[in-house]
Amino acid sequence: MTMMSVESKLAGQLGYSTVPMNPPPAEKTSTVIQFSLTQGCSHNRCTFCSIYGKDNKYKVKKLPEFKKHVDSVLSHLKKNNRGDLSKISRIFLGAGNALSANTSVLLEASQYALKALQEASHSKYEIPRRLAIYGNTHDILKKGQNDMKLLHCGGTCEHCSIDSLGERRGVDVVYWGLESGNDDVLKIAGKGYTGNQASRAGMILNNVKTKISAMIMPGLGGKELSEGHVKDTVNLLNHIRPEWVTFIGLKVEPKTPYARWIEREEAKKKNRSLTSAEVAEQTAQMIEGLDFETTIGLHGDDIHSYGYNPVTIGSVEVDGRYDSYKVADIIRKKAKKIF
Ligand code: SF4
Repeated sequence: MTMMSVESKLAGQLGYSTVPMNPPPAEKTSTVIQFSLTQGCSHNRCTFCSIYGKDNKYKVKKLPEFKKHVDSVLSHLKKNNRGDLSKISRIFLGAGNALSANTSVLLEASQYALKALQEASHSKYEIPRRLAIYGNTHDILKKGQNDMKLLHCGGTCEHCSIDSLGERRGVDVVYWGLESGNDDVLKIAGKGYTGNQASRAGMILNNVKTKISAMIMPGLGGKELSEGHVKDTVNLLNHIRPEWVTFIGLKVEPKTPYARWIEREEAKKKNRSLTSAEVAEQTAQMIEGLDFETTIGLHGDDIHSYGYNPVTIGSVEVDGRYDSYKVADIIRKKAKKIF
């Protein structure tokens, strides 16, 4: 049973609403507990995205409501599934763009969740291993280095997280839907930032040592923008060097603004969607450009139901350009067999 199903079970019984959290696959395992601080997505304007929809309006829970939610989930688990609770070592703070919450709210919420899990599951010497959230470029830039450092450290020096948890703990990982480093592609995707702004946001996270799990979207922008998408995305990734880079190929959802845009482009013969073989090749080109140590994720729709990767390789660790070439080669060989 995933933590999401625990939440669903608790909804109604305990007086808080359960909303879709859509955590990344790595945050859906049995070692992760999910707490929702926000609902919906603070941006909700990406032209290709239909994850949250219009009815799921963005909202940040009030701290008392969030704390009650954390206590309720933990007490339910404690009563009903104690064995499993002791194995939970990570926290995912959802839902979309939880990083957009006010820094003081986020700081108190994350510290409360860490402390509550520590007390509920283990002795005071065992500390949850990590806390991850979704964030976007604007949230990171708006918070700036000081606030991001505070969130990563878990407190100011006077209220240091070491005092309450026995170790420095705070926001360890930001899942970041970068999609591209190319300004034209980002504009069409409605992301609301430029490659340069994404690069600055990446430097902030690197400076405060918060790990980055970046998501990139092959296929976005169609054939016309393909070259720029590859070149600028590779440059951006090589600059900010995320610990994880996950490729989630574009799946054009009908009736989205993106679908209407590409239809118009195709009608005018100005642009077209990439074929599956072209998406695989574009992914290979992006990967072979990576010159740093990272873990590449390229999964099927069993993992990413809202994306489409025509060729999959799972998760692969690479250690610079030579490894990246080898991975790109595997993708091309696989693609040759399929197409
Ligand atoms: S892709 Fe992410 S940031 Fe964009 S609207 Fe969807 S959930 Fe929000």
